[in-house]
Amino acid sequence: MNLRNCPKCGKMFNYVAGPPICDDCRKRMEDDFQKVKTYIQENPLATLKEISEANEVKVGQIKEWIRQERLMFSKDSPIKLTCENCGELIETGRFCAKCKGKVANNLTDAFKKEAPQIKARPKDDKGGMRFF
Ligand SMILES: [Zn+2]
Ligand SMILES: [Zn+2]
Repeated sequence: MNLRNCPKCGKMFNYVAGPPICDDCRKRMEDDFQKVKTYIQENPLATLKEISEANEVKVGQIKEWIRQERLMFSKDSPIKLTCENCGELIETGRFCAKCKGKVANNLTDAFKKEAPQIKARPKDDKGGMRFF
């Protein structure tokens, strides 16, 4: 058992996986998400503020879904998402396809650099001073 307090409603719940909120809030959030998704499909020209007000969902939550690549916007939408790396217009998520590849590569590089390096010990027979 991993009991936690739901940050949304304060109820105690058994935390299993995913976002640390209770089942009720999770279901409510999923309902909100479906509502927002449908709303965007039906109102492709709506702004973030309009979507937020029409569905009673916080703008921050909508942005979170965008970052998770769960919401997509049409090219005509006033909501312009830009790549966090190069500023290119994107439809969802945080990076354009190009930068996504680059970021993935950088992460792998950083990981490699962080790996402990085994220092090669100078071998005795390679020392500069030798006495016979
Ligand atoms: Zn809750
Ligand atoms: Zn980019």
